[in-house]
Amino acid sequence: MMLNENCVIDARQLVKIYRNGAEQLKVLDNVSIKVNKGDFIAILGPSGSGKSTLMNILGCLDTPTAGQYYLDGVDVLKASDNELADMRNQKIGFIFQKFNLLPRLTAEQNVMLPLLYRGMAEEAARQLAREKLTILGLGDRLQHRPNELSGGQQQRVAIARAIVGSPQLLLADEPTGNLDSKSSGDAMEIFKELNRRGNTIVIITHDIEVAEQVKKIVYLRDGKIYEN
Ligand code: ADP
Ligand code: MG
Repeated sequence: MMLNENCVIDARQLVKIYRNGAEQLKVLDNVSIKVNKGDFIAILGPSGSGKSTLMNILGCLDTPTAGQYYLDGVDVLKASDNELADMRNQKIGFIFQKFNLLPRLTAEQNVMLPLLYRGMAEEAARQLAREKLTILGLGDRLQHRPNELSGGQQQRVAIARAIVGSPQLLLADEPTGNLDSKSSGDAMEIFKELNRRGNTIVIITHDIEVAEQVKKIVYLRDGKIYEN
């Protein structure tokens, strides 16, 4: 196979069928999507259209029923569990609608986690976490726990956690879905700036106003992808 060095995501004819007893639900119907380095893409679709299913497959958190998926040139569906865990930890930064911060840890500790998980020494991890949080305007919130932060601040902690290990790819599933319009706008400005600095970003959303701010929109409808 010819590998395109510029290609981060190369997913081909993904099918996902959920089975529930005798019932079958085909959520993804031959979905193909390519994402190149530096892209900033929104996958736009209504609730229930399979967006999170697709994101979980692209993030190596779930496997398709059929299809092929190459992430940064690696055949994901042939990778071992260890290789998959490494890809998730090193190549991908995840951002979720509900932030998914650990409630008992401070902002700083939440952001340090992925680095500690990779084996980085604690002081080095703390330094990097502080840097990222400060860049995102949370330099005075390092020791706050999630419930002591606003929704917009929690999402910025989650963004700091996603980018702290310099992953190649940011996958964000409805990252503004729990935010008021001001915080949503702030979060989008952060994504735009990250993209200007070279980050490859895929944002999944049902919000047309969010999608219209990125470079390219693909539509997910009835399990299929449309480019316009
Ligand atoms: P979206 O993120 O666009 O709202 P999802 O990918 O979460 O859509 O879900 C798409 C469809 O698949 C929905 O009808 C949902 O109920 C169904 N679904 C999602 N996850 C599962 C699962 N683990 N088992 C069975 N059905 C599921
Ligand atoms: Mg979803």
